[in-house]
Amino acid sequence: MKPLTELLRPNIRHLEPYSCARNDYSGRAARVFLDANENPYNSPLNRYPDPLQVDLKKVIARIKGVKEEQICLGNGSDETIDLAYRCFCQPGVDNVVAIEPTYGMYKVCAAINDIEYRPVTLNNRFDIEADRILETCDEHTKLIWICTPNNPTGNDLNHDEIEKILDTFQGIVVVDEAYSDFTHRRAFRYELSDHPNMIVLNTMSKAWALAGVRLGMAFASKEIIDVFNKVKYPYNINILTQKEAFKAFENAMEVSKWVSTIILERNRMMEAFKMLPSCKQVFHSDANFFLARMTDADHIYRYLVNEGIIVRNRSKVTLCRDCLRITVGAKSENNELLSALRVLE
Ligand SMILES: *Cc1c(COP(=O)(O)O)cnc(C)c1O
Repeated sequence: MKPLTELLRPNIRHLEPYSCARNDYSGRAARVFLDANENPYNSPLNRYPDPLQVDLKKVIARIKGVKEEQICLGNGSDETIDLAYRCFCQPGVDNVVAIEPTYGMYKVCAAINDIEYRPVTLNNRFDIEADRILETCDEHTKLIWICTPNNPTGNDLNHDEIEKILDTFQGIVVVDEAYSDFTHRRAFRYELSDHPNMIVLNTMSKAWALAGVRLGMAFASKEIIDVFNKVKYPYNINILTQKEAFKAFENAMEVSKWVSTIILERNRMMEAFKMLPSCKQVFHSDANFFLARMTDADHIYRYLVNEGIIVRNRSKVTLCRDCLRITVGAKSENNELLSALRVLE
């Protein structure tokens, strides 16, 4: 890995961050807060939230097996995706390399930040090949985007190939583990100390069932997290979100039950899809969704919309011709989808 200062966007290297009122005051038994132009009424929502979410990070550190100083929280992991661009990539100069197909936000954020986006198509088993990723990089490649288990293909990518990229690439490798709760593979966030150039993304939107709350997280070395904290909006995680996250983490047992149920349902659905005349192929999944190649995805998609059932049409995506991406729902929802497809020719 190159020295971090060399990888950072030049203006970020020297950034003097906003100093908020609550940063200046450090602990002790303060009783009267007249520092932040808050309104004294309507407690507790009248107060600004903790800009570094210290209490919440203590809980996250314990649950995720990382250190508090290795965590940056975002308004969804989408915010941390954008942060990576704003910290490392110089508009009009730098580029990033990503697998294809994958999660669409990496490309959208590249476009917003005026960064060249270099997609590298997965092989025909939807897997990653380190050499092809590495040979697409040049001296202006700052980030490599990897998503495992991958969206929309659903499969866990080859961890040895990812390790090879982490060990060889001189820039930053972002590993998006939005779906890692659904796979048996060991998560990359446990390998942070082996890979100073790795950023791992997690989200509360999938296994934790809090998509509406908007809480995502980046795990990385303290040096990288310190930069993220300087660049993010000071009060990016509001009090209501922090409160709901605390509640969810007290409920971790329930979450592992949800995950088991969803995996059982996913396997049942995948077997059922294999029997459908309208389905040609079901791809392996390590996530809470699966990809299915249909006889005519556009036609089936429109038919399902008419029936009030919405799936994701991925038929225009690289390697995904005629594919629908099916999110695993509750048993009754899944059965509705199956019944609708069974009456189709
Ligand atoms: C759903 C998803 C996310 C979650 O984004 P949030 O902003 O946290 O809701 C992140 N990455 C991938 C690959 C996803 O599929």
